[in-house]
Amino acid sequence: MTGLAFSFDLGSTFAAVFGTDPTGTWAAPGRVNLIGEHTDYNDGFVLPIALPQTVRVTARRRTDGRLRLFSTQGDGGVVELSVTELAPGQVAGWARYPASAVWALRAAGHHVGGADLHVDSDVPTGAGLSSSAALTAATALACHDLYELSIPRAELARIVQRAENEFVGVPCGIMDQIASLCCTEGHALHLDTRDLTQHQIPFDPAAQGLRLLVVDTGVKHDLGDGAYAELRAGCERAATLLGLPALRDLRPDGLAAALDLLPDELRPLVRHVVSENERVRLAVKLLPAGRLEALGAVLTAGHASLRDDFRVSCPETDLVVDTAAVAGARGARMTGGGFGGSVIVLVDEPDVEPVSAAIAAAFGRAGYAEPRIFPALPAAGAHRLC
Ligand code: ADP
Ligand code: MG
Repeated sequence: MTGLAFSFDLGSTFAAVFGTDPTGTWAAPGRVNLIGEHTDYNDGFVLPIALPQTVRVTARRRTDGRLRLFSTQGDGGVVELSVTELAPGQVAGWARYPASAVWALRAAGHHVGGADLHVDSDVPTGAGLSSSAALTAATALACHDLYELSIPRAELARIVQRAENEFVGVPCGIMDQIASLCCTEGHALHLDTRDLTQHQIPFDPAAQGLRLLVVDTGVKHDLGDGAYAELRAGCERAATLLGLPALRDLRPDGLAAALDLLPDELRPLVRHVVSENERVRLAVKLLPAGRLEALGAVLTAGHASLRDDFRVSCPETDLVVDTAAVAGARGARMTGGGFGGSVIVLVDEPDVEPVSAAIAAAFGRAGYAEPRIFPALPAAGAHRLC
């Protein structure tokens, strides 16, 4: 489908639902993180790429302070809210994500009034590809432009993070929001989550005969929601016990001594965060040196750390990583918060088919539903489509 036909399609749905023409359409992508997992809430380093899959928000201003929300992937109804009455805990279901963006912009002192918003998306939800941040980022950018604000992207990401933290109630770090708002096509984004310093690092696996695949396992274990908050609290407790502002401040040469000071249950968490920040440092050296094949070992080491130390992998993600290795992949790791979701797999181009087939066959043998496998192409961050 061409871009124009696509926009026409979005506009006609908007007109059918809201009885008026939209002003424009804004898109924000999902993401995969190459390396640097569970480091963002420890002030550490991450290396995400944006995916070509986006959440699109088609929108128009309203003058009566009403916020009307419709999603093609929602429950079929229009949710209607008043922007002045938005408050954490007051909105249920999917609509709390776009509502949170409007609330957070207003809470940050920006003049945002009513709007009609139509959401459409091809970012799989609950797959660890960050559809939630894409939805809040696309909404925030739409409102930003509709209300003629001029907020720098990194600040907009902080606002969207606050939306998800305080309004939706998910204690996530800043990576997903920055990835969706600040990534650029053909690059991985090296982000220091402490001060939001960013470097765009060229990332082009195809130029070296490699492919990065996303394997969406299709599972999300309920355990994940509470466990994430517990892990975050554990990391913060460890930093406090060590007298550090955050675990990012613990260098590898101080790790052994630090571990001696900590209770047993916190040691693996600290080991993961310190080693994971080192893996980001290593990956950032490998990418510009054109040593993408060596990235594979970094990915696999990252997965082992998430599995054995942080304990956020699950049988489905482990099966993808192990099967990919046996079938000849360069490396693989779960990406996202864990307990299900997606795995990224780095393969030589000729191995795409055999590795994909081996993963699908292993899932079949284990009695799991067939996973969805697609290429991860480094795409653009959030932007106005039309
Ligand atoms: P992830 O961010 O990994 O996809 P989350 O559980 O954080 O998983 O966010 C998924 C939730 O975001 C969905 O359950 C839904 O409430 C909301 N969401 C994402 N995309 C859409 C969409 N296109 N329409 C409506 N709600 C959506
Ligand atoms: Mg999410």
